[in-house]
Amino acid sequence: MPGFEIFGKEERKEVNDVLDSGILMRYGFDHMRNGHWKAKELEDAVQNIFGAKYAQLTSSGTTALSTAMAVMGVGAGDEVIMPTFTFVASFEAIITAGATPVLVDIDETLCLDPKAVEAAITPNTKMVMPVHMCGSMAQLDALQDICKRHNLLLLEDACQAIGGSFNGQKLGTIGDGGTFSFDFVKTITCGEGGAFLTNNEEYYRNADHYTDHGHDHVGSDRGAETHPFLGYNFRISELHAAVGLGQIKKLDWILETQRKNNAIIKGALSQVEGVTFRRIPDPEGDNASFLSFFLPTEELTRKAHKELLANGLGGNFYWYDNNWHYIKKWDHLKNATSLFPLNPGLVSAIEAMDFDSFKQSDEVMGRTISSLINLSWTEEQAQERAEKMAVTIKSVLS
Ligand SMILES: *Cc1c(COP(=O)(O)O)cnc(C)c1O
Repeated sequence: MPGFEIFGKEERKEVNDVLDSGILMRYGFDHMRNGHWKAKELEDAVQNIFGAKYAQLTSSGTTALSTAMAVMGVGAGDEVIMPTFTFVASFEAIITAGATPVLVDIDETLCLDPKAVEAAITPNTKMVMPVHMCGSMAQLDALQDICKRHNLLLLEDACQAIGGSFNGQKLGTIGDGGTFSFDFVKTITCGEGGAFLTNNEEYYRNADHYTDHGHDHVGSDRGAETHPFLGYNFRISELHAAVGLGQIKKLDWILETQRKNNAIIKGALSQVEGVTFRRIPDPEGDNASFLSFFLPTEELTRKAHKELLANGLGGNFYWYDNNWHYIKKWDHLKNATSLFPLNPGLVSAIEAMDFDSFKQSDEVMGRTISSLINLSWTEEQAQERAEKMAVTIKSVLS
């Protein structure tokens, strides 16, 4: 997963370009910047590499999601369907928009279960937000079909699946909008950063304005620009964009390496009776940043996870007990604990939710371990790790 493992002269060169001119902001100062427009260049690279018509960089993946909500017109009174297994940014962005998160079950893809999505649709539903967790994708064909039939927006959170694809199309470019995160632990990193991708020109134009206080970016005098609507500051800095520009040139190598190392671990675990693997709707499109697998019961999974860590095999995650990624530990959401008053409609919607009703998600997540794939492993190290994992799990299962 993490691009930070491979920082080198490429990132340094791009950052030094920015430091040499001293212009750390992405807009303006045209005559002082020695022709360097790192954010613009990274946006062009994202468009070309992923095949999206438009890309708007943001300060984070979370603000990319907030930007998506805004430009797609999601706000007060709207319901957004999201999965029980994700990162907290999913509901943060929905709540920031004033909308209501509607949590629904995942299945053995570790992503939204289309049947559960369809069952959760109400007259207030406006958007379905699949999250392509741990490098692999949701069932986008079924979700697209549901969105079409019910006239709903489809927003792909591809923050963890940069470079993955579904039926030949890059994740993040298939829905009405998509988001990437370039935070420190993602497939490629800017330190902090994100992107909103879309093929819709109006969404893009509004994202360009919205992420910069509503500035219309017309003319060359920033102070004289008008503001067609309210915005925020979700800008990325040139320094962050420069790091990403160094990183994105290595994406092919990153994906190739992840896939090679992932296959080595999978090969060894396939030999262990009782281990099964996450269902991947399009196996060729897996970005392979994690290998996620199932054991027969929650009890055995817990035990195996503990043994893996005890045997020095870090990088194996049991999300079921993890504060960040699974609904079980999101007490601040369940209790609507906020520093400021939330809109009353949202609070009553949260109070009415039955957070204990996700038996299907519990059943899947209780048996899931995700194993992080590193870029820095040699083939021998990957093989050694694979063997050690297989032996450890076998001893727990036998
Ligand atoms: C990392 C992540 C985000 C948010 O990205 P930040 O850049 O950390 O704000 C959103 N969704 C998912 C699934 C993520 O993993």
